Amino acid sequence: MKIAVLSGKGGTGKTLVSTNLSNVLSKKYITQLLDCDVEEPNSHIFFDVKYDTEKTVEMLLPVVDNTACIRCGECAKACQFGAISSFKSGTIVFESLCHGCGLCAMVCPVNAISEKPKSMGKIKYGKIKDNFYFGMGLLNIGEPSGVKVIRELKSGMKKNAEITILDSPPGASCPVVETLRKMDYAILVTESTPFGLHDLKVALRVVEDMKIPCGVVINRYDSFFKEMEEYLQFKHIPVLMKIPFDREIAIHYSKGELFTEFMPKYKKEFEFMFEKIKEAIK
Ligand code: SF4
Ligand code: SF4
Repeated sequence: MKIAVLSGKGGTGKTLVSTNLSNVLSKKYITQLLDCDVEEPNSHIFFDVKYDTEKTVEMLLPVVDNTACIRCGECAKACQFGAISSFKSGTIVFESLCHGCGLCAMVCPVNAISEKPKSMGKIKYGKIKDNFYFGMGLLNIGEPSGVKVIRELKSGMKKNAEITILDSPPGASCPVVETLRKMDYAILVTESTPFGLHDLKVALRVVEDMKIPCGVVINRYDSFFKEMEEYLQFKHIPVLMKIPFDREIAIHYSKGELFTEFMPKYKKEFEFMFEKIKEAIK
């Protein structure tokens, strides 16, 4: 079972939910947690991970041989990202815009384009304890998109894991779509504020477009903010769990501790949430 944990924006409690859920489930199931928030991975802070594998993620960038180039402009016409331009003086690749799709090399009539590898980031895998595996991606600073790093990270998922939890990047752009691909369920984490509701609606649109069953965790729950639950009721989306604003939870989080280890009531709530997810997938 593969579950993605996402939120419309950063700081809503996505990592709080994914780390605690995976930790609670690891006591019963073979579990793995993958941190796909490759621009700012932080799930590892909550565990003592023993890493055993590290790999560089590369992308192939076009290199133009301007002595062979006939300035026909076919490469620039084919590139969807405006990453290559042909001038009288020669053809230039704008590396920061290039997505490494290879199309320019394919359309060049005189084979003036070759490719060179460029490091985009790295992925690491390890073990937290027996039957609890961990993986994370880290995008190099300045890289425009983490999609390739996330794809490579997901390709190294443990096949024997009974449950895989993916901590998604925030937002609703391509890296989130890549994280959500082939997921059985999505947990959307939000908070009881108008901003939380706005960002939840944006993230929900992506999940609905991809036809992934989903439920919502309301973090820093405030019963006075009725609009959130009214909206979810209207959309027939279940509230999986409500986590109130609790100083004790915040203190554990700031110390890099899993609050479910100290507050057994919440361990039970996470177990109960998983039962609801199992039912929904069935
Ligand atoms: S590899 Fe793709 S994105 Fe990069 S310049 Fe060529 S066509 Fe454009
Ligand atoms: S397609 Fe090839 S020959 Fe034409 S401008 Fe681009 S690099 Fe030069």
